[in-house]
Amino acid sequence: LDLKNEDLTTLSELGAGNGGTVTKVLHEKSGTVMAKKVVFIDAKPTVRKQILRELQILHECNSKYIVSFYGAYLSEPHICMCMEFMDKGSLDAIYKKYGPIPPEVCGKIAVAVVHGLTYLYDEHRIIHRDVKPSNILVNGMGQIKICDFGVSGELINSIADTFVGTSTYMSPERIQGDQYSVKSDVWSLGVSVIEVALGRFPFADGEGGSDDEDDLPADLAGTLSPTKPNPHLSARLDGAAAKDKAKRRKSRSGVSLEGSSAQMSILDLLQHIVNEPPPKLPEGKFPKEMEEFVNICLVKDPAKRQTPKELTRHKYVVDSEAAKVDLLGWVTAMN
Ligand code: ATP
Ligand code: MG
Repeated sequence: LDLKNEDLTTLSELGAGNGGTVTKVLHEKSGTVMAKKVVFIDAKPTVRKQILRELQILHECNSKYIVSFYGAYLSEPHICMCMEFMDKGSLDAIYKKYGPIPPEVCGKIAVAVVHGLTYLYDEHRIIHRDVKPSNILVNGMGQIKICDFGVSGELINSIADTFVGTSTYMSPERIQGDQYSVKSDVWSLGVSVIEVALGRFPFADGEGGSDDEDDLPADLAGTLSPTKPNPHLSARLDGAAAKDKAKRRKSRSGVSLEGSSAQMSILDLLQHIVNEPPPKLPEGKFPKEMEEFVNICLVKDPAKRQTPKELTRHKYVVDSEAAKVDLLGWVTAMN
């Protein structure tokens, strides 16, 4: 498909993230509805062309757990990527609107992400790098797919130059700037599953919610305890925060950097992830297998954490895969 702006009619805005904006468009010539992501890239023409070349791998990423790719093109000074439109949107928007996602649906989400990550790594040696609820999408057929993975090294570099890539879904090893691997995505999956199952971000209470620790369930309030300072980490992150603040942007978690002292700052949060025990599901409220699955994802030492491929054999994933869940009923109830 030869894509260009002239052939695309804007239908509606789907959302904006730190990296760019996404709109629903109609490709007139083919009659295909697509999601168009526009990313601002402050890079030389040679680099932009390189990014475009690297993005072509997306044409070969074909899996029922991966959002399909229609094509990318340059629209100076932006790069436009057209992908499959997922009409029910992302999991963060879903739980914010409809409340916590039912445990049996969470099982299907785990299946989709674990298999999607395994596919990307086994077939293409791609590490996702940005697993989180806003990058897990749902459509009206009840399909669950992942998007926004790091295919282009040059694109990752260019975005890193314009935006400070600190995300609260990052694993401890990544926050610390250590070598990271496909196992880092597993950590992010663990955080994401807890978040959608509880209907709230597992570390802080996020935007607009209560800023009072006492309002949180006891087992989560514990995660907000003061942390031992890590001088190396705070030095690294202070620079990042200053840069971020200058841009008057919100952190990826929605935790405001300019928030009051009662609110956990992103720096505290990142230190917390590194220094404190990992989050977990409240005991007894979810299936045992699910509790165990998130605990396995959230093993802090990457050497002891499983890979997505190993997790495809975990009982929770195997059982969730076989489980009959009315995903169509679930999505149909959302309007
Ligand atoms: P960040 O920029 O921090 O990664 P994000 O994932 O929310 O955050 P974008 O990737 O720019 O930011 O996406 C913005 C929103 O657009 C998403 O939250 C999602 O709801 C929506 N969206 C993205 N891709 C699609 C798609 N293919 N189909 C439908 N909606 C989409
Ligand atoms: Mg995204």
